[in-house]
Amino acid sequence: MKLRIIAFGAHPDDCELKAGGVAAKWAAQDHKVKFVATTNGDVGHFSIAGGPLALRRKAEVQSCAGILGIETQVLDIHDGELMPTIENRRTIARLIREWQADIVLCHRPCDYHPDHRYTGMLVQDAAVLVAARFFVTDTPPCKKNPVILYYSDEFKKPYPFDPAIIVSVDEVIDKKRACIDAIPSQFADRDSWMGRYLPGVPEDDDGRKKFIHDWLIGMDAEVADRYRNLLVQRYGEEQGRKISYAEAFELCQYGSQPSAAELSQLFPM
Ligand SMILES: [Zn+2]
Repeated sequence: MKLRIIAFGAHPDDCELKAGGVAAKWAAQDHKVKFVATTNGDVGHFSIAGGPLALRRKAEVQSCAGILGIETQVLDIHDGELMPTIENRRTIARLIREWQADIVLCHRPCDYHPDHRYTGMLVQDAAVLVAARFFVTDTPPCKKNPVILYYSDEFKKPYPFDPAIIVSVDEVIDKKRACIDAIPSQFADRDSWMGRYLPGVPEDDDGRKKFIHDWLIGMDAEVADRYRNLLVQRYGEEQGRKISYAEAFELCQYGSQPSAAELSQLFPM
């Protein structure tokens, strides 16, 4: 069975960071993956903004899609201004329906960034409507109810991230590294988002690039360490202990509710 996966991230880099590894693995098995940024990222830099930044960021995620072997789309909604409106609910429902998704990925709706929160809410709000025949009648409903999963995060309130499935990304970490290198507006420029936002970033170009790169890849190492028991459960004692990098996903209570065995089949890597 060929799977169809659609992942929503608020900005043109979120899907790449949170699900770039698993996407590369699905794509390598010929499953169809699409990343959607729900905003154009046009305020995510400290010296450029607006149309030029939106175009630059779109080109960056297009490069990443080439690296990962997937499709990508950026919605033309201003960064920092995404709202859970009816219009946006229709847009998200249409995208899931058009893709006939088996799996939908998104942020949890408790997150520091309003665009992340509302991306999660919009996907949740679309969960039931992707099957509703008379909602967005220009786009046929999903034939089966997709499984919705959340990306990992560090937020503790109202409850900490609770993974249902974990995937080793060791085998594709070079592709993930290449994606980070393909997004200099966020991770390499002197005035890049992380270049200014992250504490302790070195001043020189090479130092800054390496520091941010290591910090981002370190997040996948943290996921592997924090949920080591799940890696051991999934991959066995010997392999599970050796895995360095992982991505993990929490099951949303809306959408289809797979058993553990069914969930494993949706991540056949
Ligand atoms: Zn973001």
